[in-house]
Amino acid sequence: MPRTKSLATLIEHYGDERVFKPRAIKIPSVYKILNREIFNNQLKNPKITIRRMHGALGLFEFNPYATKYCYRITIHNKFKNFQEFVEILGHEMVHYYQKLILKQNSAKHNKQFYSFRKKFKKLGLNLKRIYR
Ligand SMILES: [Zn+2]
Repeated sequence: MPRTKSLATLIEHYGDERVFKPRAIKIPSVYKILNREIFNNQLKNPKITIRRMHGALGLFEFNPYATKYCYRITIHNKFKNFQEFVEILGHEMVHYYQKLILKQNSAKHNKQFYSFRKKFKKLGLNLKRIYR
């Protein structure tokens, strides 16, 4: 059995011209790759939902009173291409890291956030505050 596909292979497979509509079943494999390559597998599995959003492509939320999932990542239902989807998922995972590992109360685009930029770049990904 080959190891999990590399991110570069996936990005190449999808190309950058094709609109990407994430499906729930596909997300965990990309999440797993990012968790391994960027976060040394330190992240757990938050609730990830897909829905049409206005004014944002991704969202990270923390709710200490939630009965099942205190951590939630919401992803927009349509991206310019696969790479944009990966970048947004990665961006929200940085916010998750800030909360889960660094215990920062409000996960902002601060110094710790941008400290991940190098690791993103190594994978050919952009880490920005705003994508469109
Ligand atoms: Zn952000």
